Amino acid sequence: MVIVGLTGGIGSGKTTISKHFESFGIPIYNADKEAKALMKRSKVIKRKLIELFGKDTYKEGDLNRSYLSSRIFSDQNLLKKMNAIVHPKVASHFKRWVKKQNSPYIIKEAAIIFENQLENQYDYIIIVIADENLRIERVTKRDGASTKKVKSIMKNQLPDSEKIKKADFIIQNNELNTAKKQADGIHQKILHKISG
Ligand code: ATP
Repeated sequence: MVIVGLTGGIGSGKTTISKHFESFGIPIYNADKEAKALMKRSKVIKRKLIELFGKDTYKEGDLNRSYLSSRIFSDQNLLKKMNAIVHPKVASHFKRWVKKQNSPYIIKEAAIIFENQLENQYDYIIIVIADENLRIERVTKRDGASTKKVKSIMKNQLPDSEKIKKADFIIQNNELNTAKKQADGIHQKILHKISG
């Protein structure tokens, strides 16, 4: 199975563009969404996270996201430990999911690929980019987050200029219809590469 990574900074439009690929039958695995679901569902992850962060990690059975992000935000070491608990589970869940798909290729949407040198896990990588001011505007509108918060998340992500150098395909998503047209072209190119 050909695995295509779809990445991009916060608010670039990864999920929006993934949905467009989905509309022509490409299965999408949203790694961040699945990680959150597993953090809620998996007993092993739950136990290990509570060992690491304490009982406040869960509130009425649900992941206490604001508590968790406040703990990991200022502590890279804790973030690494959390990833070491969650990532292997997501990886095996993804492997099982891939086996069940029946399509020329699948897309794995993940905010972090280049940041953790995970590019070898993909046959091709698409990066979605958009101007920083637009991304801030979108996320503040979508999540009610402050500009300061969005900027601080951006600081922890690689700049687009670095990711562009390493990606196979780029989608410029300042304007949605233009971005969708680029996605159409990339879909055809990938199909062509696979069949050729
Ligand atoms: P995150 O990194 O936070 O998960 P993302 O990269 O997946 O974000 P989306 O959730 O797809 O980004 O988009 C962020 C917000 O911007 C959404 O509310 C979406 O509807 C909107 N959006 C995406 N693309 C465009 C566009 N081209 N024009 C206007 N709004 C857009």
